[in-house]
Amino acid sequence: MLKNDYSEVVDFIKELYRSDSIPLHAPVFFGNEKKYLNECIDSTFVSSVGKFVDQFEAGIEEFTGAKRAVAAVNGTNALQVALMLVGVSSDTEVITQPLTFIATCNAIRYLYAEPVFIDVDKDTMGLSPDSLSEFLHHNGEKKDAEVFNKVTGRRIAACLPMHTFGHPARIEKIVEICSEWNIPVVEDAAESIGSYSNGLHTGIFGDVGILSFNGNKTITTGGGGMIVTNNQTIADRAKYLTTTAKRPHKWEFFHDQLGYNYRLPNLNAALGCAQLEKISEILNNKRETAEEYKSYFSGCDGIHFVSERESTRSNYWLNCVVLPDKNARDNFLEFTNANGVMTRPIWNLMYRLPIYKDCFRAETPKAEWLEERIVNIPSGVRL
Ligand SMILES: *Cc1c(COP(=O)(O)O)cnc(C)c1O
Repeated sequence: MLKNDYSEVVDFIKELYRSDSIPLHAPVFFGNEKKYLNECIDSTFVSSVGKFVDQFEAGIEEFTGAKRAVAAVNGTNALQVALMLVGVSSDTEVITQPLTFIATCNAIRYLYAEPVFIDVDKDTMGLSPDSLSEFLHHNGEKKDAEVFNKVTGRRIAACLPMHTFGHPARIEKIVEICSEWNIPVVEDAAESIGSYSNGLHTGIFGDVGILSFNGNKTITTGGGGMIVTNNQTIADRAKYLTTTAKRPHKWEFFHDQLGYNYRLPNLNAALGCAQLEKISEILNNKRETAEEYKSYFSGCDGIHFVSERESTRSNYWLNCVVLPDKNARDNFLEFTNANGVMTRPIWNLMYRLPIYKDCFRAETPKAEWLEERIVNIPSGVRL
């Protein structure tokens, strides 16, 4: 392959998708979507209550194996509530990764809490247990049942790993370290519906997790999210807080604390029910695409395809490749986008952004290495 000439790659991807203009990801509707939406409209229950919300929650419980699933208006707000429920409040800290989508950090800030950044693992692109251990060893101080950051004086209220592009982080190890320190774990599994570590679905290893059903995710409700947990108390509180904190009563409007209108409308849940019926087909299709990429790129010098780690199963939500350096990455982005194949770089690290630039952080060489090299390539379902 000639330097800066990625025409073979472009041809391969166009062949794979049988198209000359390929988006990164697009939702697919080939099931009962229209039928359920019509049912929803005919029933007049299009808003915040209705049978599809209950049905969608039950479906997600069954699919993920979570004891409870509580629907929310989107993944970001689901995460905000999940963090609140494990005790994140103003002036506390949440340990997370700088390599993530901004929603992870925004959810922390909505609670007037502070993200603290530690490094990721190169292979998972998710929070590194070694980095976590080291950070707590140097900065953590136990006082009674709580942990404080010795340097900032703030309480460390939670740890928030994210399963990047659907590749599970080393979540068992993260949970083990956090339980030694008595720090709650909230999993940002927004990107990882259908991803497993040692046979267990992502999002239910920690105290609570969240999923997203935004339009670009594996299955979509238009916009939507879900709080998943095996903890009944957390689930009950999640339902309560996302539905205005109203005491159950036949007609009285008594709200006994500050609640939120974070309910998922029945219309969106109807879409979700139809999508969930097709999730196995969607996941299998995406897995086949990943296999095709894997075997193609194994013969490509200088482009490494990221595939699932041993003992995990990735949903391959967004496929990605690693380029040799930033220059090669930029050339790859230029060439592919100019030639009808949509590709995108991984996110800027959170501490590059004005709102998070002053956050407390450890050294994060691996996140910086990945930031310069990772590119997402087309990953939508092939029809
Ligand atoms: C999509 C996403 C979210 C939240 O999603 P919403 O768009 O609010 O549903 C949170 N975290 C990560 C990492 C995401 O990719």
